[in-house]
Amino acid sequence: MNPFTYSRATDGNAALSELAAANGQAKLLGGGTNLIDLMKMGVEQPKKLIDINRLAPLAKIEELPGGGLRLGALSRNSDVAEHPLVRERYPVLSQALLAGASPQLRNMATTGGNLLQRTRCYYFYDPAFPACNKRQPGSGCGALEGFNRIHAILGQSDQCIATHPSDMCVALAALEAVVRVQGPKGEREIPFGEFHTLPGEHLENDTVLGKDELITAVDLPAAPWVKHSHYLKVRDRASYTFALVSVAAVLEIDGGTIKQARIALGGVAHKPWRAKEAEQKLAGSRADEAAFRAAADAALAGAKGYKYNSFKIELARRAIVRALGTLAGTPRSA
Ligand code: SF4
Repeated sequence: MNPFTYSRATDGNAALSELAAANGQAKLLGGGTNLIDLMKMGVEQPKKLIDINRLAPLAKIEELPGGGLRLGALSRNSDVAEHPLVRERYPVLSQALLAGASPQLRNMATTGGNLLQRTRCYYFYDPAFPACNKRQPGSGCGALEGFNRIHAILGQSDQCIATHPSDMCVALAALEAVVRVQGPKGEREIPFGEFHTLPGEHLENDTVLGKDELITAVDLPAAPWVKHSHYLKVRDRASYTFALVSVAAVLEIDGGTIKQARIALGGVAHKPWRAKEAEQKLAGSRADEAAFRAAADAALAGAKGYKYNSFKIELARRAIVRALGTLAGTPRSA
């Protein structure tokens, strides 16, 4: 691990000042469950860590006027998952969180940190592999012709086929959450679908968050219909592993007809993947298996697999049908 300095911020403004003064060389420390691993591997090499764990206002989970919920950036994943209002109003979020990591990690991991998780691509994590455009811009992509079983099937580029690892973020994408950010120019709100990026020119950045900005909270919408939601995670073993494919599904059904739908996929793209074509197919359809299959086909229409991960295309198709069927309470034939 490279040498670094450590400081403990006493308030948000102090943290922002320290961040700005470090000129992109500092990282904020919350739960540290991903950052410290990456520092040990030499993938992240910040010159300074600014510990923000004492910023008590950022740890709150509070109800918003009108029925939404604000998750402070330092709220722990386990606290969010078990919060009565999250369980009641946003079950997909609680289910996604409980499907992630282990109880010990969920006790440490924060809402803000969850949004900033880096990809679990093997080549990115191990500097012994020289080719990784995300770790070393311009060095190539070891996964393209390498072992790419966990990699992307949607939205990838020939520069990077990594996937986003979070479960929580898949649920937040389906819920159309809003990320609140504080920086030198003040506060701004970022719609969740715009927070993470696809693999373009600046692969070293996974999000639009500035190096001098701090996530303060994530707002969940006041939309009673999103209560009817479900998270399905398909993985190699029953716990403590990342999704091969996951589905966050939200449906509003009236008299057997779908009024509106939201579907987000995990494990398939560089960001939580919103399946808007599938949502459009579902709106106005009967809530039955034929509609769910048509939606799944629409969601995967542009999918492309590689040597070891083409199985994900059919897996994702079936996972969508299963998640929607579970949510609608309809039996599934295959
Ligand atoms: Fe690096 Fe992305 Fe290629 Fe993985 S998929 S080796 S993260 S460039």
